[in-house]
Amino acid sequence: MQNLNKNCEHCGQDFSISEGELALYKKVDIELPTLCFSCRIKLHQSFWMFGKFRKGKSDLSGESLITVLPEKTRYPIYISTEWYGDKWDAMDYGMDYDEKEPFLKQMQTLQEKVPHPHHNGAKNTNCDYCDDVWTSRNCYLSRSMVDCEYLMYSYRNIRVKNSIDVTICFDCEKCFNCSDCYHSFKIFYSEHSRDCIDSYFLYDCRNCINCFMCWNLRNKSHCIENVQYSKEEYDKKIKSFQLGSYDSIQEHKKHFKEIIKNKVVHRQNFNFRTSNSDGNYLVDDKNCHNCNTIDNSEDCYNILRATKDKSCIDAGGCFYSELMGNTSCCVNGYAEKYCLWSPSRYSEYLEICIECEYCFGCVGLKKKKYCILNKQYTKEEYEILRDKIITDMKKRGEYGKFFPYPMSAGPFNFSTSFLYFPETKKEDILKLGGYWEDIKESHIEGMPTSELPDDIKDVPDNITTQALICPETGWRFNVAENELIFYKENNIPLPRYHFDVRTKNQLKYLTILQAYPYKCFYCEKDIEAYYPPEWNYQKIACEECYKQNIA
Ligand SMILES: [Zn+2]
Ligand SMILES: [Zn+2]
Repeated sequence: MQNLNKNCEHCGQDFSISEGELALYKKVDIELPTLCFSCRIKLHQSFWMFGKFRKGKSDLSGESLITVLPEKTRYPIYISTEWYGDKWDAMDYGMDYDEKEPFLKQMQTLQEKVPHPHHNGAKNTNCDYCDDVWTSRNCYLSRSMVDCEYLMYSYRNIRVKNSIDVTICFDCEKCFNCSDCYHSFKIFYSEHSRDCIDSYFLYDCRNCINCFMCWNLRNKSHCIENVQYSKEEYDKKIKSFQLGSYDSIQEHKKHFKEIIKNKVVHRQNFNFRTSNSDGNYLVDDKNCHNCNTIDNSEDCYNILRATKDKSCIDAGGCFYSELMGNTSCCVNGYAEKYCLWSPSRYSEYLEICIECEYCFGCVGLKKKKYCILNKQYTKEEYEILRDKIITDMKKRGEYGKFFPYPMSAGPFNFSTSFLYFPETKKEDILKLGGYWEDIKESHIEGMPTSELPDDIKDVPDNITTQALICPETGWRFNVAENELIFYKENNIPLPRYHFDVRTKNQLKYLTILQAYPYKCFYCEKDIEAYYPPEWNYQKIACEECYKQNIA
């Protein structure tokens, strides 16, 4: 059997469906995609707001709330505890099916009436200025985290404490400006490192203590640029580096970038303990293909961000799920097709439906069965009407497609999708009926960050009362009191850019979904690696050579 060739309805590029994909599409029982892989992910992730934190009011109680949903929401917003409560019923918005109208148009009408929760997350203490946060305490202006404490301006972390500006880290404490780091304490400006302590500018290091500007290093202490020093020499050198000065940190960062380009041996991918799998950031996976940031999963294709998935295809943000197809952000799902934010079973075209089964085209339902457009039917009625709708949708070429851009959560450029596809053009999204917003805050008064003292030691304590203006976005931001204490304690200069700009800059290096052809730096065999050619990385190693030479 040969690959099946198709043409993408959104970008016009040709794409192919492999034999393995075809088999899984059949098993999951969904229609074949009409979009290429990138356009599928792009659409899915546009329903997950990254957003800009703002204050608002509940459309139920009028109570104030903090959300990343846009100012002009397309539907009423309730505080999530109200949304999960019993003061309203999504069934009140039930609609009859109209065979003359496209089904997804009808669903959009329903979607725009049904209230949506103001944020994602539960079981937190003092985490109001956060989104997608679970069992965490005292976090501030951060998104996507589990079991975190005293975390600020951070994204996608698990069990991280007392840290600032960290992205995709696990089990870290007192860290600053780190990404993809594990089990580390007091490391700063570091990437892809594990089990390190009291160090700066590490790249792919393990079990290092008191190291500075090191790469591919294992089990060392008191090294600078991979050269061994005595403790005394090391301490003396570190003092001379002026780490409290913003200008000098910029120089170190520039130097670090050159090292990353020219000296670091880069792993072909960041996969650990996988078998018959390909993609990036795979951990303990079996038979997973073209996947990214997924662990403990098997028999999957084209998955982005997941844990414990089985037999899923074209899904993003679906955790602990099985037999999911063309679906986004559904946790604990089973046999869901074309669904969004719905922990449910045996259903199609659901949005924010909780623990439902055998439902079709519903929004905001909880624990329901045999519903269509939020109306209750008997099992027999449900099956007949569902089959009729599917037949009508097939005639219109609607069936099997994910929710279209006009149904997305808000401006594309404030969605998670934009983190993965920052090059996306406004006009392309508008053409597809999506949304875009250029937030300008030039009217806001504040101090340009260029006027801040260069060295943290010269920063007065009352800086926390001063509004600062980001030179890139013109957005206002502040230095919080705890934050200033952290910087002074750790001799870190004040950041000059808005925290969302800082997060996005870190994410640029962690969101590459496409592999590029390279030759292994050691054995020269052809490999695929997740580094765009424009990064100019000189030494990329195949898995075997990396293991042999770096370990
Ligand atoms: Zn495409
Ligand atoms: Zn090699």
